[in-house]
Amino acid sequence: MVDHTQATKTISLDQYGIKNAKVRYQLSPEQLHDLTIAKEQGVEASSGAIAVNTGEFTGRSPKDRFIVKDDITKDRVWWGNINIPFASDKFEKLYAKVVDYLSDREVFVRDSYACADENYKLNIRVINEYPWSNQFAYNMFLRPDEEELKNFSPEWTIVNAPGFMADPEIDGTRQHNFAILDFTRKIALIGGTGYTGEIKKGIFSALNFVLPVFKNTLPMHCSANVGEDGDTAIFFGLSGTGKTTLSTDPDRSLIGDDEHGWTNENTVFNFEGGCYAKVINLSRDQEPEIYDAIKKGAILENVIMDANGNVDFKDTSITQNTRVSYPIHHIENIKVPSIGKNPKNIFFLTADAFGVLPPISKLTPGQAAYHFISGYTAKVAGTEAGINEPLPSFSACFGAPFMPLHPTKYAEMLSAKMQDAGVNVWLVNTGWTGGPYGIGTRMKLKYTRAMITAAIDGSLEAANKDNYHVHSVFGVKQPRTCPNVPTEVLSPRTTWNNDEGYYKAAYKLSESFRENFKQFEEYANQDILDGAPNVK
Ligand code: ATP
Ligand code: MN
Repeated sequence: MVDHTQATKTISLDQYGIKNAKVRYQLSPEQLHDLTIAKEQGVEASSGAIAVNTGEFTGRSPKDRFIVKDDITKDRVWWGNINIPFASDKFEKLYAKVVDYLSDREVFVRDSYACADENYKLNIRVINEYPWSNQFAYNMFLRPDEEELKNFSPEWTIVNAPGFMADPEIDGTRQHNFAILDFTRKIALIGGTGYTGEIKKGIFSALNFVLPVFKNTLPMHCSANVGEDGDTAIFFGLSGTGKTTLSTDPDRSLIGDDEHGWTNENTVFNFEGGCYAKVINLSRDQEPEIYDAIKKGAILENVIMDANGNVDFKDTSITQNTRVSYPIHHIENIKVPSIGKNPKNIFFLTADAFGVLPPISKLTPGQAAYHFISGYTAKVAGTEAGINEPLPSFSACFGAPFMPLHPTKYAEMLSAKMQDAGVNVWLVNTGWTGGPYGIGTRMKLKYTRAMITAAIDGSLEAANKDNYHVHSVFGVKQPRTCPNVPTEVLSPRTTWNNDEGYYKAAYKLSESFRENFKQFEEYANQDILDGAPNVK
């Protein structure tokens, strides 16, 4: 055990209104690990990782995410049920209550930063009620060195008090939990929920406003990796579609698994310093890199273990959204620093539970913009509270809950950049094949990996040049052959063995796309509109 009584550098939190707190500043992950166990807030798994329960919330709560409506945000944010306005005076009052709650307590403070590119560095001070939340911040944000810490001046502050419960009537929240961004005060205020994902996605949402508005840089909900030749690939997709799984590739260096910026200097950089992987059904056989990243320093969330501390990754009795966070250096093959050149290939990942979309297809620029704005997946159970069965879901820019601006702002930037960089854009269905959920099965990970490899190394294009099959409903170019993938897998219709049923499902999905896109039609040019699927 580490001696926690030893005096280390500490700081005062008076300026935040947190009085008389016992401040635990910049503890090492080992110290936080030990403290979590000492406080009986977690136990050590046989892998050496710490395992915690996040409490009532085991996923984000998008309905309780607010943005303070002020001079900076009022005319810029796309207000609605994704970006819910919160009054500035209400924020001030709630903030006062939260810091009062944290006063006189032991609190954990960490200075860190986001954005691996020096020019975009955003210094963050994280103030946590719990040691394991603070360790999460160590894992997920970038870690300043000793020198940087000496003169560290925080720009944004995260105040994270899972044990504080709001009173909706008085505080103006929807219920007792909340995540509120204030762009004037530069504070992310999180209370009533211990789900750690709120911490990282709070800063992501802040960057999704700040970077396009003030820095002319495109923020993206995507993972990224780079090959030996320096060719970057990025993978957009909603939760559970495979961003983390597919970017973690032994043959390609990982840039990051979830949040990146695409600059006007032709680079892509990671916002984060760690990964946050789903561990449902995780096996060493299928995903060895992620499996082996679960060691001392990693934090497992909401998993079930036996008496020997062995995790049963199949057990979803707490949640389907079991997770692990680890610093990026737990993965062997990483790019240091986490920056790559302009992407050569962009993958839009979707987990189509209706089994309609081809496992891989090539998109025209118009189709790419259409699919980016649509952001289709079938919401698989898990990351959000209250979703337990698959539903068709459209989330603009493959990340609407984190995008404060109107989706077309991001789409315009992406289209311009894609054109400029001359990228190939691929739509990859990591979801169902052989029929819909319940009848078919999930696409084999090894096939998806083989398709992505073939797209990146050019062999997919070479094998299908001028001979792609154009999908009769979605209009996308479906390859006829792909190295290391059985041919019949490439045609979803063939895998169904029921043409009538397949086309019925395909047209039904097409209708959903068109229905959803109506809200964006007025912003789209003819090229983009032509990217829509056909109707019967
Ligand atoms: P989030 O935004 O919530 O982090 P994500 O896009 O990173 O989500 P992953 O963590 O990569 O999603 O989850 C993909 C899950 O789907 C993993 O559990 C993976 O094992 C599983 N999976 C099964 N089949 C496939 C496939 N063919 N391709 C990708 N992932 C697959
Ligand atoms: Mn992920």
